[in-house]
Amino acid sequence: MDSQQPTPPKDTTIVCKNCNNYFSGKYCNQCGEKVYKETDKKISLLFEDAFHFITHLEGSFFTTLKTIFKTPGQLSTDYCGGIRKRYFKPLSLFLLLVVLYLLFPLASGLNMPLKNHMDQNRYGEFATQKVENYLQRHPDKTYAMLEEKFAAKSEKLSKLLLLLIVPCSALILWALTFFKRKYFFDQMVISAEINSFFLIANFFLLPILILLIFLAAKIFHFSVAWVTDAKYTFVGQAFTALFTALAMKRFYGFKRIYRIVASLVFIYFHGFIVYSLYKFTLFVAVFYQIH
Ligand SMILES: [Zn+2]
Repeated sequence: MDSQQPTPPKDTTIVCKNCNNYFSGKYCNQCGEKVYKETDKKISLLFEDAFHFITHLEGSFFTTLKTIFKTPGQLSTDYCGGIRKRYFKPLSLFLLLVVLYLLFPLASGLNMPLKNHMDQNRYGEFATQKVENYLQRHPDKTYAMLEEKFAAKSEKLSKLLLLLIVPCSALILWALTFFKRKYFFDQMVISAEINSFFLIANFFLLPILILLIFLAAKIFHFSVAWVTDAKYTFVGQAFTALFTALAMKRFYGFKRIYRIVASLVFIYFHGFIVYSLYKFTLFVAVFYQIH
């Protein structure tokens, strides 16, 4: 390690205690280690430091959320343009939202019982066939037992599989904007931002809105029969499409017409990924875990 010590340039005065780099200023320009002084040993700073991680995390988390909602696409534009310190990393934000959704499953969301897989129009027949085969191979098991087993495995896996949505969406964005010659890195960043919005809208805001509607219905005695899954999905998608159109304006600099068309094409394929490809993958992944 210490065989190749760099020779000290004249204008620098500090040797980094962490990596032996010569530099000037408060932080090492190679590894980022801070230069500590006697005054840094105050006991209060020890506690401040301990809380810094949490408070900083929280601070950048809310800055990032605010930026997403106030100015769609700004987070990705900044992040890809080299302004990163003030934000939560977009992909980390998406992961954190998935974890929050795991901890606080306000909506059953994309997790669904076995029966719903068998009713899907794209792969329902395939799913039904698999279920029948399973029951034939296991005469000691009933359908109810299988259903229970499936639900238990599906709950966690359905959330983990959400991670697939970011790279898949990035591929669609890349196909829609290939002439912009963006790095796939950049497409992943904007994809993470759009999908973070999608998660917040669908799994946190809409469930809260529905909860409020049901609460109001109880108090003011009106019917909630008009609240259906299909409408829920539609509203979630409409908001995500709007968000995508706004984000595309900022991130890719698209003119209005292209931005509207591109966001509608995007949301169509995004819907396909989320409501067909994802569900099919979930079914297969869960089913093959059940022996
Ligand atoms: Zn260093």
